[in-house]
Amino acid sequence: MRHLISGVAGFIGSHLCDRLLADGNDVVGLDNFITGSAKNLEHLEAHPRFRFQQCDVAARFDVEGRFDGVWHLASLASPKHYLAHPIETLESGSTATRNMLEIARRDGARFLITSTSECYGDPLEHPQVETYWGNVNPVGLRSCYDESKRYAEAMTMAYHRTHGVRANIARIFNTYGPRMALDDGRVVPAFVDQALRGEPLTIFGEGSQTRSFCYVSDMVEGLVRLANSDERYPVNLGNPVELTILEFAERIRDLMGNNLPLVYHPLPSDDPRKRRPDISKAKRVLGWEPKVPLSQGLKETIAYFKGVVAAPAAR
Ligand code: UDP
Repeated sequence: MRHLISGVAGFIGSHLCDRLLADGNDVVGLDNFITGSAKNLEHLEAHPRFRFQQCDVAARFDVEGRFDGVWHLASLASPKHYLAHPIETLESGSTATRNMLEIARRDGARFLITSTSECYGDPLEHPQVETYWGNVNPVGLRSCYDESKRYAEAMTMAYHRTHGVRANIARIFNTYGPRMALDDGRVVPAFVDQALRGEPLTIFGEGSQTRSFCYVSDMVEGLVRLANSDERYPVNLGNPVELTILEFAERIRDLMGNNLPLVYHPLPSDDPRKRRPDISKAKRVLGWEPKVPLSQGLKETIAYFKGVVAAPAAR
């Protein structure tokens, strides 16, 4: 099969690409490098079934040939990045989603979009189940991301209903692992980077907000299973083990073998107070649940970041 992935140089995009290639597929990957990194694709430079094309999928672009699978992962997924590039973020959910859907419609391809737990906003139901409509501030700082993904879900459903596109919507919860950028601002790389430098871990707010962290290999498995399913409505993919940010900081301190101090910063606006996926639907429909415990996933992630820091001109 021939697949098209937008955001292929990103964290999850590059892992998904590796998986599709390992399964014997051909992959054409697109990225504009606004947050993706060429380093995430270096190992594929001479791969006979991989081709890279640098382009902005929110602009007009042509890509050669026809596809069996279209995966729209291009997105500014870190709050640091989407707050810095709100318009591009809105475009990746709107114009870019439509452009990728058009390719799927034209080719009769399967389509999958990586949506987000941010669709639930600062949730009033806990844990979050797919049928919950969310509690999103439509004009707050995070709205560029949340509303862009909600629009993307609506556009995807419209292409399915109007044009019969075989589409899947994955609502991804916090995911971590190798190939995240050390400076991307999200809590996993931020704490590991701080620990490696011997600096205090930055806790936003009181650290009582919760998150649930899914290792990237589990996430890719979930995405592939979802794309092979007949489910047309959104499916949560994430790890249901929930921690406060303070508890997460403790895990990092335990693993990194030092007694790093904590420093408290103000909580960013509209930062969700709690988040945990209800994954009953993924279990039922996909036979999927995460396998990698946080301790193991963090060990692999820390080892990766140590390698990045040790490499020449890493920072
Ligand atoms: N966070 C933190 N310190 C940091 C970075 C993030 O306390 O240096 C908190 C952040 O406020 C949020 C949680 O960790 O409550 C997860 O943040 P992240 O940016 O990783 O993802 P989010 O779930 O907010 O999209």
